[in-house]
Amino acid sequence: MIAVIVAGGGPTGMMLAGELRLHGVHALVLDKEAEPTSIVRGLGLHARSIEVMDQRGLLGRFLALGKQYPIGGFFAGIRKPAPARLNTAHPYVLGIPQTLTERLLTEHAAELGAEIRRGCELVGLSQDEHGVIVELADGTRLRSRYLVGCDGGRSTVRNLLGVDFPGEPNRVDTLLGEVKLTASPESLNAVIAEVRKTEKRFGAVPLGDGVYRLGAPADGVAKDRTIPPTLEELKQQVRKLAGTDFGAHSPRWLTRFGDATRLAERYRVGRVLLAGDAAHIHPPTGGQGLNLGIQDAFNLGWKLVAEVDGWAPDGLLDSYHNERHPVAADVLDNTRAQMELLSLESGPQAVRKLVSELMDFEDVNRYLIEKITAIGIHYDFGEGHELLGMRLRDVGLKRGRLYELMHGGRGLLLDQTGRLSVAGWADRVDQVVDVSEELDPPAVLLRPDGHVAWVGEDQTDLLSQLVRWFGAPAN
Ligand SMILES: Cc1cc2nc3c(=O)[nH]c(=O)nc-3n(C[C@H](O)[C@H](O)[C@H](O)COP(=O)(O)OP(=O)(O)OC[C@H]3O[C@@H](n4cnc5c(N)ncnc54)[C@H](O)[C@@H]3O)c2cc1C
Repeated sequence: MIAVIVAGGGPTGMMLAGELRLHGVHALVLDKEAEPTSIVRGLGLHARSIEVMDQRGLLGRFLALGKQYPIGGFFAGIRKPAPARLNTAHPYVLGIPQTLTERLLTEHAAELGAEIRRGCELVGLSQDEHGVIVELADGTRLRSRYLVGCDGGRSTVRNLLGVDFPGEPNRVDTLLGEVKLTASPESLNAVIAEVRKTEKRFGAVPLGDGVYRLGAPADGVAKDRTIPPTLEELKQQVRKLAGTDFGAHSPRWLTRFGDATRLAERYRVGRVLLAGDAAHIHPPTGGQGLNLGIQDAFNLGWKLVAEVDGWAPDGLLDSYHNERHPVAADVLDNTRAQMELLSLESGPQAVRKLVSELMDFEDVNRYLIEKITAIGIHYDFGEGHELLGMRLRDVGLKRGRLYELMHGGRGLLLDQTGRLSVAGWADRVDQVVDVSEELDPPAVLLRPDGHVAWVGEDQTDLLSQLVRWFGAPAN
């Protein structure tokens, strides 16, 4: 039997497949499309996702294809400099088109041995206490121990499970396309600056070679958003606002997206789980959706490995919902807040002015950036040290860097005392005896996703936390 079927080979599904394969778990990715999409939605990675790539040894590949930008200006587009002393080794935004992110994650998963089948649409599922049966559009039936729906905002898996998806419906559609323009950059910029004073969903981002990412509000809400707009439709909407269509021609692709904001009520039903857009959707303000999905996969991967390999302590798999559902709820809320701040009504504009003034306080600016970049996420592991439940930033060690030691996706005890032991868990947890000038506590136990599971120096205390997160010791 297949261990885990991943429905959907977008960034979430491919990240998850890579995490499963790090531990040799049989992972099958199914994607309904015969070819990867050429439509570029997300434009970059925020600090926490950059750290995730570093923790898995993938950062070099991403840096080679991306461009680093200053981190400021992401909260509702309010331009402020990045706060000083941001708590990360990667205080920048990595500009990289989503298509390249997907390619790199797919290559990584495939190199590790993930089986990837394209042109395979999941249309049915059933489950019992032993496993899941998945039905494909061509009638094929596959059996696996677990199924994860990473199949996007219109998730078939979520619908088949009957999981509620409460929130707000689409109110407006936006048309988007990569097109060539004949207008000169000077006249284009002048017109855009003028239009954006009253319409923030309008813009043209230069991509080089005369190609621009051109966006404009649509007329109303489409009945079927899977049908792309025509070039004429986009040009017409651009003309309505700008008085010109800038001579748009030769589209590489055209798409439309909505502003619905919804969160799945449950991330797990028995042996079926949801991750990424299948679990949450919201407008792209702040550039968080793809990042959120990658981090869902990073949280879920090792927990599924623990279940499949038989060492999962009670409740570990449920901790996926308990930890990630509130994180998504918070992203949805910050997106709602940003959308309000982008409104041109006088009330929201007054609040925007106030928020902008407040962001001149370093602590406020940092708080908002930590939200958007996800480096401020704190899981509730109970009372304790301030690092407990936080992800640990990369720190220098005598032998190198902490993140370089996490590529295998195992737990890690960073022991600055040299007196502790993980004997009994050595098959799941690495022990590193070393010191760091950047780390105060005598020792920290990190989960495979880099979150701090324990801080201290007492061996008995450590043992209880090893059992809590990594199950019973091996004989
Ligand atoms: C205009 C725009 C700009 C954005 N900008 C950003 C940004 O800058 N930063 C950011 O973080 N996020 C951004 N986002 C959000 C981001 O694109 C999504 O959050 C991200 O794609 C979610 O990834 P996913 O893997 O969960 O889902 P998807 O990328 O939607 O992938 C789902 C996959 O599942 C497959 N699939 C669907 N149904 C089935 C089925 N039944 N069987 C098998 N396969 C199936 C699909 O073919 C697809 O490959 C933006 C979104 C939009 C629309």
